[in-house]
Amino acid sequence: MSRHYTKTTRPSQSAPASSDPDSPLCRFFTGVGPKRARALEVLGIETVSDMLYCLPRDWQDRREDAAPAAAANGVVAIKGRVVSTHHIRTSPRLGIFKARIATGERKIDAFWFKHLNYRYDVFAPVKKDVTVGTDLWVMGRGEGDLLGVREVRVEEYYLLSDPRCALHADRIVPVYDLTEGVTQRLMRELAHQAVSARAATVEDTLPMSLRRKRELLALPQALRAIHFPNSPAELEAARSRLAYDELILLELAWILKRRQTRGLAKNFCYEIKKHLLTPFRERLGFELTRAQKRVINEIFEDMRRPYPMTRLLQGDVGSGKTVVALSALLLAVENGCQGALMVPTEILADQHMATIGKFLEGLDVKTAMLTSRLSKKEREKTVAAVAAGETDIIVGTHALLEMDVQFPRLRFAVIDEQHRFGVRQRTTLRQKSLLLDLLIMTATPIPRTLALALYGDLDVSTLDEMPPDKTTAHTFHVPEEPALAALKAEAAKGHQAYVVYPIIEESSNLDLQSAKAEYERLREGPLAGLRVALIHGAMPGRTKARVMAEFGRGLWDVLVATPVIEVGIDVPNATVMVIQNADRFGMASLHQLRGRIGRGAFASTCFLVADAKTDEARQRLATLVSTSDGFRIGEEDLKLRGPGEFIGTAQHGELTLKAADLRRDAQLLALARQDAEALLAQDPRLLADDNMALRERLLAVYKKRWSTIDLA
Ligand code: ADP
Ligand code: MG
Repeated sequence: MSRHYTKTTRPSQSAPASSDPDSPLCRFFTGVGPKRARALEVLGIETVSDMLYCLPRDWQDRREDAAPAAAANGVVAIKGRVVSTHHIRTSPRLGIFKARIATGERKIDAFWFKHLNYRYDVFAPVKKDVTVGTDLWVMGRGEGDLLGVREVRVEEYYLLSDPRCALHADRIVPVYDLTEGVTQRLMRELAHQAVSARAATVEDTLPMSLRRKRELLALPQALRAIHFPNSPAELEAARSRLAYDELILLELAWILKRRQTRGLAKNFCYEIKKHLLTPFRERLGFELTRAQKRVINEIFEDMRRPYPMTRLLQGDVGSGKTVVALSALLLAVENGCQGALMVPTEILADQHMATIGKFLEGLDVKTAMLTSRLSKKEREKTVAAVAAGETDIIVGTHALLEMDVQFPRLRFAVIDEQHRFGVRQRTTLRQKSLLLDLLIMTATPIPRTLALALYGDLDVSTLDEMPPDKTTAHTFHVPEEPALAALKAEAAKGHQAYVVYPIIEESSNLDLQSAKAEYERLREGPLAGLRVALIHGAMPGRTKARVMAEFGRGLWDVLVATPVIEVGIDVPNATVMVIQNADRFGMASLHQLRGRIGRGAFASTCFLVADAKTDEARQRLATLVSTSDGFRIGEEDLKLRGPGEFIGTAQHGELTLKAADLRRDAQLLALARQDAEALLAQDPRLLADDNMALRERLLAVYKKRWSTIDLA
């Protein structure tokens, strides 16, 4: 039990000294010496202001009438009067002090556990405080029955006569992240000092008009209430206010970034000539879906604008993104420009080349492929043709980004399966030509709210409709045996199958070894008699291409594969997929993988083979079994794992939200976006008196990270 705080923390004590927000804690706060100051630094708290903005990670309801509810999660706060005390020595090292406490109609046993010390009585302070007849609060882990708490293992206690009761008991108290040498109690007292000293005088950066419109708490009140709320409702209001602040700053920053791109003039005007587009459409052999038509229009409109396009195209696996990309590429070619299509894997590059070859046969469009698989001579030839402007459409992997690859007429580029690339690659492609129109495609379904927050500087198009008569794979979570039996039955009908093993990290040798071993086991055991091939990422490019082509031609019944096949493979005769150790894949990957089957007219089945050990893993698999809607899967994933995962793949360091939670605050985010747009429409440089504070804050928060923020 800490005894360092003999003084109470009344505002009057610290207010004058620490009203400067940047004053270091240790100089002005009661209870912080150099040693504590160093511990607090670990938590990122150096100044009064840091403390004020150090948001609790949770809250604990210690109000008297909240005790029964609080007992449910094990942490209780109980007020009562001591009726008896008892000192027990259990072992030479551990001692227990017990107090029976009467609270309402009940009696509760409170226990203090302490390591004994032969030099002094570790229980002396407790014995002095806790005597028969004392009124006090005890807080700690409670145990009880249906009627309520019976026992408490005491972590904190306060005598009713102690003025600190007002801060630590009978209220909703904040719970902070801790580090060694820093207790909840210390944090609470420091937060209280910070709030008392500083909260009332912080400048509210939000214009009054917005605060009124959205009925938000004033900043001083929000900062007080986030630490010490008077009620759950006030806490929620405070959280909303602080979340809104973060979100509107984020949205303002996005809009400004976008405005800047729009300031660039690409000095080129596309015309829709149709001498390529029309024959292309005729060759498709199917009618475009309404969604495809709408998105193609959106892209064409963008391309015809005077500033460069940056558009994200989201569409579930199989929604037909390739045709959309090809249409845009052809518009570029019709206008005498070059277009590039960048993909994450060689297999996918092959696949796209085949598709393009099929749809553009007989048209005057020169295509070429650039991957690391090419021999030195082939590469030189291709690079030379591209540089001479002879090639119209170039399909390739990140090999396209190499320094010596120069495109004299490049005006349009597509990045397919962008979630497989990093932000750096997107930027490098942009650098090849600043005025490039960029189309970024992804099948990793990102919930709309998150897409807005993550890609706020992009325009977003969504293919929300699947081509007709595309069958979705029925998915089951089963043991291996029935899955392989079903696979054999399909093979007997002349269909093909994939068996997929996880390689979570491309470099993981262990995973690769086990995939190879499994291939041997399947080939000799359960799948004996079938023609089984193996494909994995570590194979030479040529071998991969050969195996894939052979599988496409039906020379193999079963392809044992690592996730190299995750994107782009299109073999209509493949109707079964068995995913081994499915619990090791993320939901988005599983959804992508099963999108590889059901691409023909046949019914198809996906078996998830997994011994899911946690509830979360089971929940994830259950979601995949129950729905084939990629966007719903994205939403579920977001609920289960939080946005961290998505943000990780999106690699946006900008997104540092403390109070806002994209899962809960979707609506608030939409409002913040609306408000940010309206605000900048009215006052493009945020120079109005009422907006000055917000302007300063925006520059302070984002200027460091984005040199591009420009309010001049
Ligand atoms: P993804 O969005 O996953 O990249 P693809 O572009 O590979 O999807 O399309 C999946 C399959 O659907 C392809 O075989 C493609 O030819 C076909 N397809 C695309 N659009 C249509 C359409 N409107 N009607 C019928 N089939 C289509
Ligand atoms: Mg695709």
